Amino acid sequence: MRGGFRFPKLEGEPPAGVEEVALSGPLWVPLRQGFGGTCAAVVKAGDRVVRGQVLGRAEGEFACPVHAPASGSVAQIGSVKIGDDEVPAICIEPDGRNEEERLPGATASFEQLPAEEVQRLLHEAGVGSLFFEGLPAPAAPCLLPAEQVKFVAIAALATEPFLPKLRSLLDGRLDDFVIGLRVLHQAFPEAKIAVGHSRADSDLLAEVHRRGGAPPWLTIRPLVAKYPQEHPALLVTTLLAHKKVITSPAAVGAVVSDAQAVLHAKEAVVDGRPITERLIALGGNGFSRGGYAKVRVGTGVRALVSNRLTDQAEPYLVLGGLFTGFRVTDLEVPVTRTTAALACLPLPTKAELLGSFRPGARNVSASNAFLAAVLPFGSRRLVASLHGERRPCVQCNYCEDVCPVEIIPHLLSKQVTHGLVDESERFGILSCIECGLCSYVCPSKIDLLADIRLGKRTLMQEKEKYAETA
Ligand code: SF4
Ligand code: SF4
Repeated sequence: MRGGFRFPKLEGEPPAGVEEVALSGPLWVPLRQGFGGTCAAVVKAGDRVVRGQVLGRAEGEFACPVHAPASGSVAQIGSVKIGDDEVPAICIEPDGRNEEERLPGATASFEQLPAEEVQRLLHEAGVGSLFFEGLPAPAAPCLLPAEQVKFVAIAALATEPFLPKLRSLLDGRLDDFVIGLRVLHQAFPEAKIAVGHSRADSDLLAEVHRRGGAPPWLTIRPLVAKYPQEHPALLVTTLLAHKKVITSPAAVGAVVSDAQAVLHAKEAVVDGRPITERLIALGGNGFSRGGYAKVRVGTGVRALVSNRLTDQAEPYLVLGGLFTGFRVTDLEVPVTRTTAALACLPLPTKAELLGSFRPGARNVSASNAFLAAVLPFGSRRLVASLHGERRPCVQCNYCEDVCPVEIIPHLLSKQVTHGLVDESERFGILSCIECGLCSYVCPSKIDLLADIRLGKRTLMQEKEKYAETA
């Protein structure tokens, strides 16, 4: 991968060890979670449900069913705000009874099942929606029909700050990971499976290979741990050794997901358990106590941060990856089956003296001009401060250097803000994978990604208008 940014060791990395978050209060289960459309509720207020029971299904478009994360009763059907979207959701009031429903057809002898049945089980359990562009199943074709899946890429590295580390995900679960890979092979027997991992985890993956019997369909590849290497387009480009970054995994017959999805694949097809729980990393030095939390889908962020925040007045919380997630402004926002992390950063309330000129000795910076670059020891801190206001572009080219798809963010930003959106298409604006690195490294704090998103949106609207009138 060209470009990218290698984050140094950061303060607030979640320490190993998993805590289970107790069920407390209602669980709001969104009817859209992960890749695909919105399900329609198949329960109504007042119904009794058990853990794993289907709450919503979609007909006619790709969407895996959503399930009750606990036994209890349906309190109401309403909606929740997730990022900028208002999503229909079902509220479950848990009854503490711990009753559970399993997927019919799941078996430890899954290697006797036809591929279509394994695909169906993965879809019914919600695993299909964890794949970037969906995982095809017989009654649920997505971008790529099942018979065209030639490559399954698994991102077993997390280069974005505060995402779960592979070692914590696989702690005590190496055999489950091996079985999960075999499940995916059974679902797509013609496909090669490749696991991309950080060199720091080579010992773990060597053990996976050994326990799995080193089958010919499996490749384990160490990758340079630079953000955003785990982005699906970049991961597939690297694993398939393409010279140019691909536009979409489906375009080259690939489906892409991550290590936690492999564990869910095992739980679905062998144990018959749909996704009702996630392992979430709680990182960042806005937490007085970070770590890993096992939490039911639908749990509000409030339960995750309870007794974990420092005394700062306003925590800056991001659900999902620090760059790819969204800022939490309402602590009732629920965890979904795709949530992997919650980051909390300090939000300084006082202006910094000469903040524009000094990210400081311990802050992260892409610039070699600051003190941090020449102090090799100790961990660095990330803060939510912008270190001053937006300033004019100084042509430093940092944004261009880090861009992993080799476009020129500062040029695109200028084209968009000067109304030259058509011109920006020629300079590759549609190739932007929205990793956010350009905005992050810009010393002038220009929100390049926001400009680029605006340009992409405008271009798409123009294309739609043209198609309608043509
Ligand atoms: S232009 Fe797009 S792909 Fe390039 S660094 Fe910025 S956000 Fe990432
Ligand atoms: S990083 Fe910022 S200041 Fe530097 S060239 Fe890009 S837009 Fe301009």
